[in-house]
Amino acid sequence: MTADFERLARAIHLDVETIANGDGWIVTGGSGSHLVSGSACDCIDFGVRGTPCKHVLAVALRRGDPDVLETLRLLVPLPRRRRSPSDA
Ligand SMILES: [Zn+2]
Repeated sequence: MTADFERLARAIHLDVETIANGDGWIVTGGSGSHLVSGSACDCIDFGVRGTPCKHVLAVALRRGDPDVLETLRLLVPLPRRRRSPSDA
């Protein structure tokens, strides 16, 4: 699954709950709650573009989608290693 940086950055801040019958996810934390089923979402962004919205990406993160995690590595730099006193 491909992910654009802006939507993926927003996706990190959303909450994902599995719905009771296991047939999708409810994604909250944005302007409202949305239902993601399979790789489709009921939001306007997905409806207009037909490509992964922040809700679909939030579910992909929750599921550990390797492509989305790879994109996340590009978005988040590695922390700098802290110098410890023994390095001096
Ligand atoms: Zn959506």
